[in-house]
Amino acid sequence: MDHRTPPLRFSDAPRGVCRFCGDEILKRLGSGEIKSDRRRRWHNRCLEVYKVAHWGDVRRWAVRQRDGGLCAVCGAADKPWEVDHEYPLHLVDRSDPFAMRFWMMANLVTLCCDCHKEKSAKEAAARAKIVRLRRKFGHPRGHSSEPQLQRADIPF
Ligand SMILES: [Zn+2]
Ligand SMILES: [Zn+2]
Repeated sequence: MDHRTPPLRFSDAPRGVCRFCGDEILKRLGSGEIKSDRRRRWHNRCLEVYKVAHWGDVRRWAVRQRDGGLCAVCGAADKPWEVDHEYPLHLVDRSDPFAMRFWMMANLVTLCCDCHKEKSAKEAAARAKIVRLRRKFGHPRGHSSEPQLQRADIPF
């Protein structure tokens, strides 16, 4: 699977259970009674997060609303820009139950195309270096070919 595809942990949840967070979906009846809503598969709030993670145009719109197109590195406001995943997706441990946070707003930043290109080049160089060292010395944990983030590196 492509490392940019967001993980969906509860894709096989039955109706009435949110496919995104795994919690029951509730509705309030006219009588005030609260019941499980078996017609639905998503909480509204969870669907918003899902769209930001999966749909590029929604992601770009949401980041634009928050940042106003200002580059987070150089502050330029009048340049073409891109949405960047600040902690790179190729470092994400997909078996982490909270891996989805890397696709959420807290990990998205506005970067002008120049700053984005520079960041990507640095990441590629760092990645290549790790791969070279692994070839030479072996993997320290021995069970993954990809470099992965340590929990201490993750601020959210
Ligand atoms: Zn949910
Ligand atoms: Zn910039």
